[in-house]
Amino acid sequence: MKKMLIDDARAALSAQGVSPRNMAAICPICGTIQSMASLVRAGAPKDKVEDYFAFSCEGRFTGVGPLPSEKDRSAAAKARRSQRGCDWTLGGLFSLHKLTIVYPDGKERPSFQIATAEQAQALRDELAVSA
Ligand SMILES: [Zn+2]
Repeated sequence: MKKMLIDDARAALSAQGVSPRNMAAICPICGTIQSMASLVRAGAPKDKVEDYFAFSCEGRFTGVGPLPSEKDRSAAAKARRSQRGCDWTLGGLFSLHKLTIVYPDGKERPSFQIATAEQAQALRDELAVSA
């Protein structure tokens, strides 16, 4: 488990070189790179999207469902894997996240990992094309 101070996390997001709504994080379960912009596109409420970012996978808003087992080689499982997102949220019972954000008051909050600048910019460009 990696721990990161909130200021360092903000700096890492800023270093992506995109606008705040396009700053990107990676779901630890399905690996989908997502931003506030992609969450809104998936159906997340705009006024709450900051709470969902880096915490709930955008698949929760599209209703795409959980990822199939890696052992499932069926056509349906393959088709499902080609879709973005999964039903994961860090608010659940299991702690499978790989990053924890530490706040100045010592509180800790699990987070999706922060995407690289290349990943964030690629997602922004993809969203711009499909908008
Ligand atoms: Zn996911």
